[in-house]
Amino acid sequence: MTVGGTEQAVASYGTKTIRYRIERGRRRVSVAVVVDPLDGVVLRVPRSLEQDRIAAVVRRKGAWIVERLREFEDLLPPQSPREFVSGETFLYLGRQHRLRVEQAAGLRSPSVSMEQGRLIVRIPRNKPERDNGNVVRTALRDWYRRRASHYLPQRLARWARKLGVPVPPLLVREPPKRWGSCDAAGNVRINWRAMQVAPRLVEYVLAHELVHLEHRRHNADFWARLGSVMHDADARRAALRRAGARVNW
Ligand SMILES: [Zn+2]
Repeated sequence: MTVGGTEQAVASYGTKTIRYRIERGRRRVSVAVVVDPLDGVVLRVPRSLEQDRIAAVVRRKGAWIVERLREFEDLLPPQSPREFVSGETFLYLGRQHRLRVEQAAGLRSPSVSMEQGRLIVRIPRNKPERDNGNVVRTALRDWYRRRASHYLPQRLARWARKLGVPVPPLLVREPPKRWGSCDAAGNVRINWRAMQVAPRLVEYVLAHELVHLEHRRHNADFWARLGSVMHDADARRAALRRAGARVNW
């Protein structure tokens, strides 16, 4: 009998290992499977159901669970909308930076700089001030994109070398939900928002897309290939998922 605490367990589904947590409920009479972006796979079960029978449920629902887990590679929707005003914090390569917005008379276009751990956005003095949020957002977005075009290519090249594939063309884009993608022509597209997460997570995004050039789908070959050059790929993937909601603006 389990008193308090949580039970962790694993079940195999095909070549995949599904990790899950068991929550026992005194009044539960049926089994519910929950796949949550942050908590992962949770089995809510009657209090005395045996582990073997729970594992059987996980295997039976394996295809569905794996599919749901795969969806969480996407960027999560934002937790709360940004206002793009002084005092808000933004991440750059995993570090927090406080935003300062300054209005300057005579400035023709916005400028962004990083000074002593702060992100400073200078914008032209605006008559209807309510539009400033948009101006600041666009300025910041363009700044991240420029940083991405400098930062990403050599890292993409390094991972291409590790994988032994030719370095593909890199495009920095702004998809609403994906960290990256690759197309049939062999271009790798990376979301500029990836510049907000820690470098090891940026590298995960790059390596992941490079492996897609050989393996379109997330099948066993895909994960084996990724794991062959990045041993902690699973942990990075989980960390990336947790970071998602914060960087989606
Ligand atoms: Zn993928």
